Amino acid sequence: MDKREALVERLLGIEMGVDELRWALIVEGSIETKGSSRTPRAGLVHLIDAVTRTTREHSPDRLGVAVPGDLNRTTGVVGMGSMNLVGPWAGYPLRDELAYRVGCPTEILNDARAFGHGELVLGAAKGLENVLFIMLHRGGVGGAYAFEGRILASADDRLGEFGHLTVEPGGAHCPGCGGRGCLETFASGQAIVRRFRARSSWSPSGVTAVTEAAADGDQVAVAVLAESGHAVGIVLNSLAAAFPTQAAVVGGDIASAVLPWMEDAIRIRLAERPGSTFEPDLLPASLGVWGPAVGAALTVALPSSSTRGKEREA
Ligand SMILES: [Zn+2]
Repeated sequence: MDKREALVERLLGIEMGVDELRWALIVEGSIETKGSSRTPRAGLVHLIDAVTRTTREHSPDRLGVAVPGDLNRTTGVVGMGSMNLVGPWAGYPLRDELAYRVGCPTEILNDARAFGHGELVLGAAKGLENVLFIMLHRGGVGGAYAFEGRILASADDRLGEFGHLTVEPGGAHCPGCGGRGCLETFASGQAIVRRFRARSSWSPSGVTAVTEAAADGDQVAVAVLAESGHAVGIVLNSLAAAFPTQAAVVGGDIASAVLPWMEDAIRIRLAERPGSTFEPDLLPASLGVWGPAVGAALTVALPSSSTRGKEREA
């Protein structure tokens, strides 16, 4: 291997999604290839096998894995909190197990923080410094915050859990945290379906059925989606009052379906603080469903494995 070849890093990011395993291979700072496969529902062992197989196919120098739930970034162990995947994940040493199997340096991080990092470095927030991120997924709502061009991260990787900020005190039970009235009870795909079912005479199969109904003029669907948009806007507006914010990026695997129905409501709420020095831009995520995989790959590019965006751009 000559000297130049040795400098070219192949970074693989994998999002362990509830329904899909999505991966992105980053070479020389840009996306070389990406893809997805169905997540095996059979549980932990099969999912670990699938991640291992996908990694071996791409022989990366480093692997980053985005995980839908609590984990410890320092120890690489999955936390005790909600994990939407099937299996005994709590306390599982995921990072070390994967590193052993794939034979390259491996990091794990929360999927929403990975989403934020991907959008910050290569997506909608590229070049910005202070940005709020909201990730709308079928099973939950995640978030992240970039300050001075860097996604803020804590060892337990909970910094940015904006899906569990309260929108309605005493509101619907939140399966994700056990609280009530969280943003997640308004704006995850499952929450949108649940809210629609409670008010309509028919039962949609999923969030896409709700957006299709809205497109066909179903006023309940339009109202439910607008309420979800208001909830996202309320949280973003509150956060922007406390944290310097140039823009709010909204994405996630249901965003392309729901955002067109939520965008006006989000903008109305964002504009509701006339005393603010300025109103943050609302930007749709630009990496589509690949944000977490891209962000996970970019995270392992750095020797410290921290989520610094600026250095990658330098
Ligand atoms: Zn919650």
